[in-house]
Amino acid sequence: MRRCETCGNESARPITVTVEGRAHDFDSFECAIHALAPTCEHCGIRIVGHGVESGAHLYCGADCARQAGARRFVDHT
Ligand SMILES: [Zn+2]
Ligand SMILES: [Zn+2]
Repeated sequence: MRRCETCGNESARPITVTVEGRAHDFDSFECAIHALAPTCEHCGIRIVGHGVESGAHLYCGADCARQAGARRFVDHT
């Protein structure tokens, strides 16, 4: 049994996500996303897809990057 890092539920079938060499245990993808997904700097939603990078900034999509004033960005979608 592993304990979910987000909600504390114990799960017999945990989801383990390794980030930068550290293993994190969760009982569901929702909890994993809540704990690990980055947030859009413009609108604040969790970025579950590829997102858009602009230098050191991260946005959920090209629209947010543009609205935030990013001149150069890479849209991975
Ligand atoms: Zn959980
Ligand atoms: Zn956004």
